[in-house]
Amino acid sequence: MITIKSKKEIEMMKEACKIVADLYEYIEKVIKPGISTYELDKLAENFIRSKGGIPAQINYPSGIRGVKAFPAATCISINDVVIHGIPSKNEIIKDGDIVSIDTVVMKNGFHGDAARTFLVGKVSNKAKQLVEVTRQAFFEAIKFAKKGNRVGDISNAVETYVKKYGYTVVKEFQGHGIGKEMHEDPGIPNYGIAGRGPRIEEGMTLAIEPMIIDGKSDICELEDGWTILTQDGSMSAHYENTVLITENEPKILTLN
Ligand code: MG
Repeated sequence: MITIKSKKEIEMMKEACKIVADLYEYIEKVIKPGISTYELDKLAENFIRSKGGIPAQINYPSGIRGVKAFPAATCISINDVVIHGIPSKNEIIKDGDIVSIDTVVMKNGFHGDAARTFLVGKVSNKAKQLVEVTRQAFFEAIKFAKKGNRVGDISNAVETYVKKYGYTVVKEFQGHGIGKEMHEDPGIPNYGIAGRGPRIEEGMTLAIEPMIIDGKSDICELEDGWTILTQDGSMSAHYENTVLITENEPKILTLN
């Protein structure tokens, strides 16, 4: 079900979103070669709690029988890991890595969701371009996040933009509505046909999240039931914000 948020609900939701925005400014300062993804996750979790937020991804169920609930506050996905990487004491961030971090915070009963891909140390120009194009794909897409348009306009904008660089989009995972639930309708694929899909309305809050691969779009999953990798080992980047549809321009709630 697509939910339309009242002005009061939006004010409540902005608090969760603000914590996510601040979190990434904090992570930018503490992420460095030599830190484990476990350590980085703990820093993130402590930051979220210190601001009165709840790290909503902890114990998030996979929905798949036999797969344990997600154990951490953040998903940390390095290089060829696309999304849902599980933080680990054995995984050390290295110079030259591109590190995607995805976090959902809950406060006042509402969620805020955003992802960034961080460049750690001396990153190749090829990887830098992938990260920058992925980020820009989000900004190209939200030009269409306006009332009266359709979800397919957003989807099409992402795919059209990244294709120009020879990149592909992940098809099995997508953006989503967000509010009292972490994942609400509508689903927002990163590919599609302009003019199709649900109508965009004022008061919708949408998590728009290009997941882009510098190679073939095929993905595979590790035995942990969470970690998603590119099949051909290509690098992947992720950029996401929670966006409010207004009467005029969309408002990005998870970016300061
Ligand atoms: Mg997310």
